[in-house]
Amino acid sequence: MAKQTAKNATCEQCRKEMKPGASCVMTHLYADGKWWDRIPVDEDRKDHCGDCNAPGGGYHHPGCDTARCPICGGQEAFCDCEITHMGDANAALHPVPEDEA
Ligand SMILES: [Zn+2]
Ligand SMILES: [Zn+2]
Ligand SMILES: [Zn+2]
Repeated sequence: MAKQTAKNATCEQCRKEMKPGASCVMTHLYADGKWWDRIPVDEDRKDHCGDCNAPGGGYHHPGCDTARCPICGGQEAFCDCEITHMGDANAALHPVPEDEA
């Protein structure tokens, strides 16, 4: 997954401009044959994520430096987990066919 700079960037996944307070709709990620809940921005956070601008309680845009991987606890953008898809809550209700993964 390509790293992108937050300033005036558009999220490749949710297609939203990463403005302050814009949360990503990608609440889940797919790796190792299943969907995982992504780790949201700390709910108590009063400002927004300094890297991707997601608000407290929202979700980081994929590629954010500070997004944590729910599988290994490392940095989602740089860890060794094979994250093949990002999905919203609806997508996460359905399995991803292996040939697409
Ligand atoms: Zn996004
Ligand atoms: Zn972020
Ligand atoms: Zn990981």
